[in-house]
Amino acid sequence: ATATVKPPTTTLDDIFISVKTTKNYHRKRLPIILKTWFQLARKQTWFFTDTDDAEFQLKTNGHMINTNCSSSHSRKALCCKMSVEFDSFLNTDKRWFCHFDDDNYVNVPRLVRFLGDYNPKDEWYLGKPSIQAPLEIVKKEKKTVKKIKFWFATGGAGFCLSRALAVKMMPFASNSRFISTGERIRLPDDVTMGYIIEHLLKQPLTVVDQFHSHLEPMKFIRKDTIEDQLSFSYAKAKEEWNVVKIDGFSETEDQYRFLSLHCFLFPYFSFCPRRR
Ligand code: UDP
Ligand code: MN
Repeated sequence: ATATVKPPTTTLDDIFISVKTTKNYHRKRLPIILKTWFQLARKQTWFFTDTDDAEFQLKTNGHMINTNCSSSHSRKALCCKMSVEFDSFLNTDKRWFCHFDDDNYVNVPRLVRFLGDYNPKDEWYLGKPSIQAPLEIVKKEKKTVKKIKFWFATGGAGFCLSRALAVKMMPFASNSRFISTGERIRLPDDVTMGYIIEHLLKQPLTVVDQFHSHLEPMKFIRKDTIEDQLSFSYAKAKEEWNVVKIDGFSETEDQYRFLSLHCFLFPYFSFCPRRR
């Protein structure tokens, strides 16, 4: 007899959610995350930072990881953090690695349903580029200079890797090798990720439009599609805030719009206004 083999059902517990943060952003950026989407994935979400912080260690129930990487925005420091995120994922039995920045809002139940459409035993690199064409770099190898092109998923929008892909990446990324690979091409962590996956392993990026970084205007996300989106972000661009356009709390109460977004998605949450 033949049986139809369905991909395994994905649950929240199959996902390792890592958030990159830094000393100076704990008080500024973590409280809104802890109040909102973190509450829906308290056991699955880990914060990768560059210092010990007793206050936030308590607030995250022990989910702050001090990478001992330098607390600068340098390429080396960021690749160092990504390398610890990657190794921490490999040390779990989770099927998916999803990376986000600390200015992302993650739509947790949507992320779970989304990953359910993919088999983690296949190689998946799921994310969204921030440029219109693949990145072109010159690669110096011994005495020859080669032009190479590859896509990469913007770290600030969030991206996910299947375990099968992560295992294939190990020769270039595990046990701190992510740092040396990053050093070799001298490019940021998310670009290094794309270089390893698309160029070295020849596994293409699957473009997922539902990831959003603040490199795109948040105001263009339509209200009737908000529930379909996987991530959001915020930033101050010159005088104006680039934030999701959504009604709810006042601008003074909710500058980043994440409280309003959370109450739109989960109206019965404790801090959301009771509606009749
Ligand atoms: N970040 C970091 N070290 C730094 C500065 C930033 O780890 O010295 C992290 C920060 O917590 C965030 C990401 O890098 O998760 C992007 O930082 P930011 O939003 O400030 O800059 P962007 O690159 O988005 O303009
Ligand atoms: Mn940012």
